[in-house]
Amino acid sequence: MVVNSDDKVQKIVSLCKRRGIIFQNSEIYGGVQGFYDYGPIGSLMKKNWKDLWIKDNVQLRSDMVLIDGTIITHPKVWEASGHVTNFTDTMVECKKCHKRFRLDLLDDNSQCPECGGPLTEGRKYNILFETEIGVIEGEKLPAYLRGEACQTIYLDFKNIVDSTRVKIPFGIAQIGKAFRNEVTPKNFLYRTREFEQWDIQYFVHPKEMDKWYEYWKENRMTWYQKYFNQPDNLRFRQHEKDELVFYAQKAFDIEYQAPWGWAEMEGIHWRSDYDLTQHSKFSGQDLSYIDQSTNERYIPWIVESSGGIDRSFFFLLLDAYQEEKTKSGDTRTLLKLNPHLAAYKLAIFPLAANKPELVNLAQKIYTDLSSKYSVDFDDSNNIGKKYRRQDEIGTPWCAVVDYQSLEDNTVSIRDRDTMAQIRVKITEIDSWLSKQLN
Ligand code: ATP
Repeated sequence: MVVNSDDKVQKIVSLCKRRGIIFQNSEIYGGVQGFYDYGPIGSLMKKNWKDLWIKDNVQLRSDMVLIDGTIITHPKVWEASGHVTNFTDTMVECKKCHKRFRLDLLDDNSQCPECGGPLTEGRKYNILFETEIGVIEGEKLPAYLRGEACQTIYLDFKNIVDSTRVKIPFGIAQIGKAFRNEVTPKNFLYRTREFEQWDIQYFVHPKEMDKWYEYWKENRMTWYQKYFNQPDNLRFRQHEKDELVFYAQKAFDIEYQAPWGWAEMEGIHWRSDYDLTQHSKFSGQDLSYIDQSTNERYIPWIVESSGGIDRSFFFLLLDAYQEEKTKSGDTRTLLKLNPHLAAYKLAIFPLAANKPELVNLAQKIYTDLSSKYSVDFDDSNNIGKKYRRQDEIGTPWCAVVDYQSLEDNTVSIRDRDTMAQIRVKITEIDSWLSKQLN
């Protein structure tokens, strides 16, 4: 059943709350716009999403290393990067209803999109969050929460070259929080004020920039396509000439077809030698690289891929959300998530909660499997409700311990998507599951 796209975001927001995936932060105080917490299920899913990225981009590659940098850095970093002067949004306010909007996100800049009222002149706001380092008045150092995670990679470039055996071309990957005082946080996880990014900065010889740019552009799209059920909802958008920063020859976004239109998920950026040159200038340190085989010294050029983890996670939920009419006329809601992303790979239930022999056997299977897989156990009474809950959080398989299990040591395993059931020997659940996942 196709879910009306206007309702879909609302349906996902309420599913996320109902099933412990995502909560509005500080909800008991009325919440703050643009801040969300991941609940017991959501935090496992998000961890899986990040683990997949690390596995595919670091673990399986000999040309990539991983770092985990701080959120607060030396304040000069943000002067060098241009964020102190340029990280601004232009905001307008409706003179009638007093709602505020980001000017560049309005289709029609002449009137309020909500009530049609006239708008004020645009005013520029820097969206870096400010803080201070130190506690003594007069000695505090003004600082910022990082507006993008990738800057730390440039700061650590020299240390990494000096401390590891990396040779160009190589990449530094990082997952980390970024903070932006967005004027109009909106669309659930799409535009928030605190979010996580995954960044790859791939360092290349200037002559090889174009080749590596094309390589990462294709690589990142193919990677996302693996995990979305509907890859047609992903596309590239090439930046127009007037959108390009002066040092970029080209730029592409990977976009997702969200219910409100095509929306950016990740940017593939041509950064040339801009970042390392800026940090060389502002820090006074030489950030050039020496090719040991030719003795050539140069500032490496960079291909960047920078994606929003919460954004892509939200898009995965939109992609996976389905409603189906069952034979009995009910609606079955399910998250058709890739099993690698699901919080639990398998849920184990005893058929009846008041039969200790069934409960104990189910409990034992759960304990045995949990050292290897993230699994769930549910001995509440109603089997229909148990399936419903697991369908809604995307658990790909449910195993039921029933009376037959006591006789022939098998369980019934139900598939989330087809609802087909098969019998698997208890001693073979581990290898069966491992086969499904690989
Ligand atoms: P936008 O134009 O949507 O504001 P951007 O072009 O400023 O995004 P980048 O600076 O390139 O974004 O950041 C890289 C990625 O970080 C984006 O592709 C997006 O997925 C994510 N991102 C950026 N801003 C936010 C935000 N406010 N909330 C959630 N994710 C964000």
